Amino acid sequence: MILSWLDAEKPGGVDLTQPVRIASDSVARKDVVSIEALQVNLHGLANHGVCHIDGSAHGFVVYHCVRCLDEFRESLRVPIHEVFSRYPLTSAQEEEDVVYEPGDEIVLDPFVLQAVILGLKYQPICKEDCAGLCPSCGVNLNHNTCHCKDRTIDPRLEALAELLDKTNEDRRS
Ligand SMILES: [Zn+2]
Ligand SMILES: [Zn+2]
Repeated sequence: MILSWLDAEKPGGVDLTQPVRIASDSVARKDVVSIEALQVNLHGLANHGVCHIDGSAHGFVVYHCVRCLDEFRESLRVPIHEVFSRYPLTSAQEEEDVVYEPGDEIVLDPFVLQAVILGLKYQPICKEDCAGLCPSCGVNLNHNTCHCKDRTIDPRLEALAELLDKTNEDRRS
């Protein structure tokens, strides 16, 4: 996705609408399977060598649920705001994270990627009440049942519990 300074300097600026492909490995997240149908809408407006980009990216993300490891798809919408300067940055601009872009064109893809990464879910869960995997046998408790809970008491602990009961009884008598 490319923005030309010449277009952005026109009265009213320029509108850009484009699909952007983001490879799943470029987001470097094990719990992100893919990013699909990402559409980016931006408005660029430049004045005196400073260009403001405003808009958003929307599409879908396929995640791995961190509890049950199932894949699930969710819509994603992230805002995109950037400011570029054609001239070397003043210290005030540096502090405001203005980006120095002296060329005739600005390649926007890295900024779209950055916005998408910031908009991804932290610890994605397929549903609020995801039951996760059984810690003993590993079945997905959303789709299956197991009987691990029925025998959670370790037989050794059971013997110990009985012994404690007996001791308490002896003390009382
Ligand atoms: Zn889940
Ligand atoms: Zn189990």
